[in-house]
Amino acid sequence: MTRENKLYEGKAKIVWATEDPNEVAQQFKDDATAFDGKKKGQIARKGVCNARISAILFRLLEEHGIATQLVDLIFEDTLLCKKLQMYPVEVVVRNYAAGSICKRLGFEEGAQMKQPLLEFFLKNDSLGDPLVTEVHIEELALVGGEELGEIKRLALKINAVLSKFFAERGVMLVDFKLEFGKDSEGNIVLGDEISPDTCRFWDANTKKKLDKDRFRRDLGDVEEAYAEMLKRVEK
Ligand code: UDP
Repeated sequence: MTRENKLYEGKAKIVWATEDPNEVAQQFKDDATAFDGKKKGQIARKGVCNARISAILFRLLEEHGIATQLVDLIFEDTLLCKKLQMYPVEVVVRNYAAGSICKRLGFEEGAQMKQPLLEFFLKNDSLGDPLVTEVHIEELALVGGEELGEIKRLALKINAVLSKFFAERGVMLVDFKLEFGKDSEGNIVLGDEISPDTCRFWDANTKKKLDKDRFRRDLGDVEEAYAEMLKRVEK
């Protein structure tokens, strides 16, 4: 593929057209943003780390019977992906409390959920990606009823597979965000990425944060955290 026909440029990725109308190339950038784009920066080698981590995790999920968008890692920072019609909803899975749920509901950071908790957020920058309930999802027809059931089942299965994978590598999977879409045959497929940009990872022993919170909160060792997560995932 050539980097000529840019379809879309987001905060952390560029989507390129390919020769195949059913495939796109997702290039991961070193650019980092937080707090609705109010905080901006660069994290050296983030693009390479996130592309590789995503590719490894998507392959792992495929091995467990979960359909993903991934076709192949074609450059060190670029994934060839099946084109999907994305649902306008982000699915967050939480095993431990962190981030917005602490602010919203007063959980103490690190409190363990009785069971994995699923939340949905509307993908809408001008509204600030608000939390939505299933009632809102139905009323706004964001996802069909049966499809939502399938998405919930997939999100919990993905959590089970990833939690075990990371536990074996000394990492707590605190929470993460997923995005799903539909392929040309109407199958529900996992899209986007799974990386330190979209997950919270804590070292199981020291509880050191190994994810984008180091950038969000100016904790230092940002590049090192992404590199460390790549190392653990490649083990
Ligand atoms: N997340 C994400 N993209 C977003 C919002 C959240 O990837 O636009 C991820 C985030 O990295 C974390 C999880 O989803 O792993 C839960 O995020 P939370 O709702 O706590 O929001 P935040 O504190 O990141 O604003």
